[in-house]
Amino acid sequence: MTPFVYMAPAARVVFGSGTRAALADEIRTLACRRALILSTPPQRSDADQLASDIGALAAGVFTEAAMHTPLEITERAVAHARALASDCVVAIGGGSSVGLAKAIALNTDQPQIVLPTTYAGSEATSILGQTAGKEKRTLRSPKVQPEVIIYDVDLTLTLPVHQTAVSGMNAIAHAIEALYAQDRNPVISILAEEAIRCFAKSLPTLVASPGDRQARSDALYAAWLCGCCLNAVSMGLHHKLCHTLGGMFDLPHAETHAVILPHATAYNTPAAQEVMQRAAGALGAGDAAAGLFDLATRLGAPTTLSALGLKETDLDAAAAAAVRTPYPNPRPLSLLAVRDLLENAFQGLRPASNLGSETHHA
Ligand code: NAD
Repeated sequence: MTPFVYMAPAARVVFGSGTRAALADEIRTLACRRALILSTPPQRSDADQLASDIGALAAGVFTEAAMHTPLEITERAVAHARALASDCVVAIGGGSSVGLAKAIALNTDQPQIVLPTTYAGSEATSILGQTAGKEKRTLRSPKVQPEVIIYDVDLTLTLPVHQTAVSGMNAIAHAIEALYAQDRNPVISILAEEAIRCFAKSLPTLVASPGDRQARSDALYAAWLCGCCLNAVSMGLHHKLCHTLGGMFDLPHAETHAVILPHATAYNTPAAQEVMQRAAGALGAGDAAAGLFDLATRLGAPTTLSALGLKETDLDAAAAAAVRTPYPNPRPLSLLAVRDLLENAFQGLRPASNLGSETHHA
């Protein structure tokens, strides 16, 4: 018997095609009347369109959402919300827009309705990462968990192929780490396996045919499941490495996940063989780490840290930072082994052994 604890967040999920038309009803169901609509600058026209769709229920739009939720942008957005007397926030976009909605909710307690357009999964979590200057702080609070998620597959049709690939790999990372999390539970493990299976099938289709609606639907569904995984259990070495590299060297978020995931998986495979077999099965591969590397390659996602602009001389500092503070991970953290992992990721070597200890050139 394996004991476990499982908590289901109280979030309402509306999934389908054309579901953004339900926004006005969802606002009224929350007993709200004045929505502030949020987006990044490139998605301004989507925010304006939503405002026009809901008419008098729109109090205004704020389109300055940015990666990693900078505090100075949140301060401007909160001031804007107060000036407009908004009573809820509506975010359209990826993790950047959703992050801003969460930050406003944290400051104002206004409920959130989010319409995700990438596969980052933030919409399903009570996690918020915020930056002040170069420093990123992450918090968990029920106050930031969005009350309503409207998944409209149509909104993802415009996601460029490169972003489809790296955002998908970013999401798969949540599922892989959920499978071996110290606080894993059987419900989340089922979601994780299903998500990996859906992504392994849909992402290659989307790279070839970005407008394939069934594949878009499968990928968005998988992204929701991955967000649920991220929310429910703690993440290990993979997420620690990505946050370290992102914070110290300003590497792009989703791309870094795509590069690191096969190598973090190889690192942990010897200590989590049973669940890695589940992951490999879901990927349709003999070995999870090699399967992830092959998937990233097939998707045209980056596979080397050097391509992301990291220098080989940065690897020592990154390895040291990633093992400085202890945290749960299936395989104990060793500075030398983590340094090797980063070297392999730097060079883009394909993990070759099902015990994750050998590599060969792709
Ligand atoms: P993003 O939200 O920054 O979007 C990337 C770019 O793609 C933006 O310019 C955006 O305008 C554009 N875009 C998004 N959807 C589009 C679409 N359908 N068509 C065309 N363009 C589109 O990137 P992201 O990867 O979704 O999110 C990354 C951020 O989310 C990071 O700040 C990360 O820390 C955060 N995040 C948070 C959590 C959490 O649980 N707190 C989880 C995952 C990611």
